[in-house]
This record gives sequence, structure tokens and C-alpha cells, in this order.
Amino acid sequence: MSLHLTQNIWAVGRNYADHAKEMNAETPTVPFFFLKSGNCLNPGSVIHLPKWSQDVHYELELAFRIDENLSFSHATLALDLTARDAQSHAKKSGQPWTLAKSFIGACPIGSWISVLELKEFENITFELKKNHQIVQSGQTRDMVFKPAQLLEFIKDHYPLSEHDLILTGTPAGVGPLHSGDLLTAELRVENQTLLTCHWDVI
Ligand code: ZN
Repeated sequence: MSLHLTQNIWAVGRNYADHAKEMNAETPTVPFFFLKSGNCLNPGSVIHLPKWSQDVHYELELAFRIDENLSFSHATLALDLTARDAQSHAKKSGQPWTLAKSFIGACPIGSWISVLELKEFENITFELKKNHQIVQSGQTRDMVFKPAQLLEFIKDHYPLSEHDLILTGTPAGVGPLHSGDLLTAELRVENQTLLTCHWDVI
């Protein structure tokens, strides 16, 4: 399962009502996606912040990996890193979000677990700690569009391929990263921890 074959990372926007609210945005009635290049993937434990942004935010998200049948095969936690200053500028000037979302190293991910371990996708909880304080905690049951709906929408509209990733949106609590920050993320199903991730921000 090599990561270099990932062509596209399909990321959904505003898929948790509490996050849409904190961004002063409406909760969508149809899913909307933006792309992160597959080359943004960072499977390591060190996050290098880009020098040209003063406001890179973490967004912790449940991510799925696509198999040869265009189904979910594996899951992990991903950080949809976002240069919020570049995104605000893009929103104001009607430009695409490519710089804000698809910069070098913009998608740190944890290790992969089989979707079979997740049982039902409805009962997953995940949490991000920054410097030992909980900053985000999400539950998949709060998603506006469920993973199966996101997958169906993507297959109907976009050239999804094997090894692509789908990022399923972030709950409330997004915020800035600074060099020296320590991040820890956990994924649980029915109170059992299935995945723990650690990242050092440089
Ligand atoms: Zn996101």
C-alpha cells in the first residue's frame, strides 16, 4: 500500500454544522469538495509550516483510502492543514483555494487501519490535543453528509481512482499552529482506541 500512488485527496467543506458556524458559513445542502494534491501527503511525524503563511490552521478529519473497487478500504486521521490567511484572501477575491489547501506537506496523516475495524461508521469519535489540551473532538454521527453519501457524490461527479483519499470534514475548534507545538490525535470506536498519532510542528 504505497502512498506515492495517491493522485487526489478529495476534501469536503463544512461537513459539521458547528464548524460551518465558527466559519460564519451556512451548512451546505449539497456536499462541496476541494482538492488537495496527492503529493501533499505527509505520512511522517514532523509538520513543516510554510514560511509564507502566518496563520496555518489544523483541521482534524477522518480520512478514507479508496481501493480498486472504488470502495473504502482503510481509514486514518488526517490534518487538512489550511493557510487561513491565504484562504481568506482567496475568498475575498473570488480565487480558488489551491494555495490555502494544497501547499507542500498540507496533509499529514496517521497510520492506516482497515475499515473492518471500524464496524459501523456512525460510532467513531476522534480528538485532537494541542500541547496536551483538547482542541477538537468530533463524532461521525454529527456529519452533515455521511461517508457513504460523500463517496457516492464523488463517484457521480469526479474521476475518483484507486489509492485516492477522501477527507470527511472537520468539527469545530480549528485554530493556528506555531513552531514548537505538539499534536496528538486519537480515533476511538466504542471507547476503544484504534489509532494514535503524534506530530511535532517545526
Ligand atoms: Zn477541512
